[in-house]
Amino acid sequence: MQLYNTLSAKEREKLIEEAGKDRLTISFYQYAHIGNPKIFRNHLFIHWNELDVLGRIYVANEGINAQLSVPAENFEAFKKHLDSISFLENVRLNIAIEQDNKSFLKLKVKVRHKIVADGLNDDTFDVTNKGIHVGAEKFNELIEDPETVLVDMRNHYESEIGHFKNAVTPDVDTFRDSLDIIENNLAEHKEDKKLVMYCTGGIRCEKASAYYKHKGFKNVYQLEGGIIEYARQVKDRNLENKFLGKNFVFDHRRGERISEDVISNCHQCGKPCDTHVNCANEACHLLFIQCKECAEAMDDCCSLECKETHALPYEEQKSLRKGKKASNKIFKKGRSEVLKYKK
Ligand SMILES: [Zn+2]
Ligand SMILES: [Zn+2]
Repeated sequence: MQLYNTLSAKEREKLIEEAGKDRLTISFYQYAHIGNPKIFRNHLFIHWNELDVLGRIYVANEGINAQLSVPAENFEAFKKHLDSISFLENVRLNIAIEQDNKSFLKLKVKVRHKIVADGLNDDTFDVTNKGIHVGAEKFNELIEDPETVLVDMRNHYESEIGHFKNAVTPDVDTFRDSLDIIENNLAEHKEDKKLVMYCTGGIRCEKASAYYKHKGFKNVYQLEGGIIEYARQVKDRNLENKFLGKNFVFDHRRGERISEDVISNCHQCGKPCDTHVNCANEACHLLFIQCKECAEAMDDCCSLECKETHALPYEEQKSLRKGKKASNKIFKKGRSEVLKYKK
């Protein structure tokens, strides 16, 4: 029985190119009680591997969180398999508007403690007492209401390239940090204001809305299916789009354009740009925004120091890295003093 990838990313990329078939990029999540995540994980891997599914899937006792791509021709079979699992029957699938056949190059199904690293102790509040889910139309209405406070539940590097008009976008590195900031900012308005929140695909709001209700907020709303589903509904039903810029996504596309507005700047020269890259120096890998011209001038690196390292023969780079811990910049997404124009 094959339970793990046998192909490298490069080999997979080649296969996808040769096959020349369209793939759909899909995400979904479901909170549900899973007794034995390890067995469930293996079950998914075996079936999805057969269907040529690729992606990053987290399974935990509390549920499943999946980002994946599937060949369009296998979509029905994939859907059928999902429907055969009781708690995934008719689960809402977020299908990306911009397709990219290489959004994922491996199938990774991982057993985790939680499906989102939210830093919350779930035993301290009722996670099932969520906010009211709203679709795009109602959401548009709500965010025009002067009594509404609209909050972006994502991290700084995500909201930087795109967010809803008039949203509060906490300058945070983690979900946990934003919860406290928002609570403190709105302490006076727990009862009178409407707290409306959104995130990429809706999953972060599932916990956040319950958390805020537990903290005494009376009117809590969340965007159903997040920005991904919002964009789909806006397009399908010809609604007014109130999202500016790009939706940051966690696959190799990094961002999905929702409106033509470019709301961020190249972190190196300051000109309008919303293309995220990772520093080419493997010891750094910093996530930042870089325009084409700077990419060329800097050899895809974030700093002169990285450019120098990157220019060394690969073996030498490797020996330099030896014994050193991986740079924590990887986790400090977009935070570095070398980036002059990072706000
Ligand atoms: Zn630039
Ligand atoms: Zn770098």
